[in-house]
Amino acid sequence: MNRPYLHTFYTADQANKLVVQSRMDYTVRQGSVKQMLFLPSGKKLWVVIGRDNEYWTDPELGFCSCKDFYFTTLSGGQDCYHLKSVRKTIQQRGFTAIEFDDSDYTQLLQAVADDNISVLGRS
Ligand SMILES: [Zn+2]
Repeated sequence: MNRPYLHTFYTADQANKLVVQSRMDYTVRQGSVKQMLFLPSGKKLWVVIGRDNEYWTDPELGFCSCKDFYFTTLSGGQDCYHLKSVRKTIQQRGFTAIEFDDSDYTQLLQAVADDNISVLGRS
């Protein structure tokens, strides 16, 4: 590790930006961004597979179900790394699309919502 890299850790804000950047790179590289594509309607759900949980992310609404989004992004901070990862993955067209039938949409959305409620309930 060289000095210029260490130097950026002198400010917390810079450090946080670096963490987000490296997590995003890792997430994109690992192919952890999944698009759930519902046919024939073409509705989409974006899910980011994290270390412990899956997060539901909507890049068009600028929404993510993670705690970072609630505590940082909504208070005027930067987007969480899930949102950034999804946007970057879309840009690079590097996502994995999983196809589902439209009839599964409500059930899957419910499952994602239930997961996220239990994630937010834990602290
Ligand atoms: Zn997030």
